[in-house]
Amino acid sequence: MSTLDEQVAERLAHVRDRIARAGGVGVTVLPVTKTFGIDACWAAHRAGCTAVGENYAQEVAAKFADTAIPFGVHFIGQLQTNKVRMLAPIVTVYETVDRPSLVAELAKRVPGARVLLQVSTAGEEGKGGCALVDVPALFDTACAAGLAVQGLMTVGPTDGGPEAARPGFRAVRALLDRLALPVLSMGMTDDLEVAVQEGSTQVRVGSALFGARPPLSTQVR
Ligand SMILES: *Cc1c(COP(=O)(O)O)cnc(C)c1O
Repeated sequence: MSTLDEQVAERLAHVRDRIARAGGVGVTVLPVTKTFGIDACWAAHRAGCTAVGENYAQEVAAKFADTAIPFGVHFIGQLQTNKVRMLAPIVTVYETVDRPSLVAELAKRVPGARVLLQVSTAGEEGKGGCALVDVPALFDTACAAGLAVQGLMTVGPTDGGPEAARPGFRAVRALLDRLALPVLSMGMTDDLEVAVQEGSTQVRVGSALFGARPPLSTQVR
């Protein structure tokens, strides 16, 4: 075991501890490896994680294209339709499906793709996501297009601290139950306790596992 392996395993144990103390049972940890090298992905895999989360299409293509990987890659960044083709051979779950044009492109390039519908709760520009009221229609569209909709995903607000995320998280959980879907991807390093308390089934954790992210060079974006 390398030092990185040990460090990630130790930090993962701490994250699982936080989840347990918040009352979470059976909550999956998706390690967010954006801007970190493939060694971070392997470390998370060896620590027991079955998939990693990535945000940038070019980075995904560069990081995983030449390697046979035994773990899944969830795309959690804002997704442009013209990037789907590049991601199709690599990505196993698309977590940020938020509009009909993206549903159509996925149905064309990745028939039956496993997806989550991203719900906008933070009310912030630039994070993507479908308005809560429009999600049932998007769900119908995605099902009709043959996508395998597994659940919902949301990103809490950047400002206001973890508690600011609670009302939005609660509303998304209620919608998940209404749609009778199993997967709810919500909560990150700073707000995972609130997310777990509000019924998250998967937290997306980057800095708590890998430390502060190096700045993203413009060419991988
Ligand atoms: C970067 C990112 C994360 C992880 O954030 P941390 O605060 O480092 O845990 C989770 N979800 C999304 C959508 C992200 O972009």
